[in-house]
Amino acid sequence: MHIAERIVRLGTETAFAVAARATAHKAGGHEVYPFHLGDLNIPTPANIMEAACAAMRAGKTGYCPSAGIPELRAVLAEDVGKSRNTPFAMENVAIQPGGKPVIGKFIMACMNPGEEVLYPNPGYPIYESQIEYHGGRAVPYRYTWDTSGFHIDLEYLESRITPRTRALILNDLQNPMGAECTREERERLAELALRHDLWVLLDEAYFEIRYSGKSVSLASIPGMAERSVILYTFSKKFAMTGWRLGAAIGPRNIIDVISKLNVNDESCSNHFVQYGALEGLTGDQSGPAGILATLRERRDTAVDFLNATPGVRCPRPEATFYLFPEVTELMARKGFDGDYAAFAEDVLVRTGVSLCTRLHFGRLQQGEDRRFVRLAYSGIGTKDIRKGLGALKAYAES
Ligand code: PLP
Repeated sequence: MHIAERIVRLGTETAFAVAARATAHKAGGHEVYPFHLGDLNIPTPANIMEAACAAMRAGKTGYCPSAGIPELRAVLAEDVGKSRNTPFAMENVAIQPGGKPVIGKFIMACMNPGEEVLYPNPGYPIYESQIEYHGGRAVPYRYTWDTSGFHIDLEYLESRITPRTRALILNDLQNPMGAECTREERERLAELALRHDLWVLLDEAYFEIRYSGKSVSLASIPGMAERSVILYTFSKKFAMTGWRLGAAIGPRNIIDVISKLNVNDESCSNHFVQYGALEGLTGDQSGPAGILATLRERRDTAVDFLNATPGVRCPRPEATFYLFPEVTELMARKGFDGDYAAFAEDVLVRTGVSLCTRLHFGRLQQGEDRRFVRLAYSGIGTKDIRKGLGALKAYAES
């Protein structure tokens, strides 16, 4: 029996392999500090759990409309419309089983085989996987680095647009770098999208995971809402990663296509879970506020430790729950110049710190000579952050 050829082009999230290695190390009786996976070890707010249980008891256990229950679509349209300064109606929203399915469905809806899609590298690995799986050409763009953080290399991005480019994927409030566009960057991107008639996938999974200031969406720039699909998720803001609920929000023509893909794929997203999400959006907001306060404390602890570690430099992002410190000097000093896998293994064995490296977020780009690792602080408490990063500091000092 043979497996279909297209499967060769399907990628994966290699961070899951890091999790497996961490589990094996722990099973050997060692302490492990889990900084590798972007999951939350914070419970979903109680009012959301209650609402989902109540819905289950009330019989919301059958199929529901493929695009989601109307109440949730309407409330989400209003909520996202307000925060993105763009009017949306219920018809602009297709509920999904998580934010992740929006990526593949967006690509299926707007890209033909042989066409090109621009995506961030380093970036969430599913973009490249889905573009290539559906027969497209995944074209990476890149970032520059200074002490304030990471910025899209706009000249480079523009140079990679061709007549075959169909879409641009933007993950503003970015995984793994915690990068955020400036207003000028957003305006330049909008201008490029308009000039080259591109669809835009706005992956805004971390739009509400921010510690100061206010998130701004590219969709709020005139002309962009008509060509953008927002990836929305309940996973992060409401600590609902395992509930699997998100949405695609955008122009009606592409949302109708995405809803048709829902019919073909999952029929509908989990019915009673949508009532939990509805409570999340309309009910008591102390849950998400508490989640943010917890994450902020973790961020500050982690950044302070990392910046006190010789050979490590780490910006303090105002959004996401990821850190992307530069470790060029530390790796060189420890004799791992460029060998990310050996470095990560040595760090795990000697300190118990389990982390991802830059290579888990795409292939190295030409001329890239600085080294980075990614630490997620969503799944580890402050006490363990201190213990783990204290051990990392001692490792760097030794
Ligand atoms: N987009 C980005 C950038 C992410 O980091 C993630 C999850 O880590 C997702 C999308 C998808 O999350 P979910 O499917 O849980 O909504």
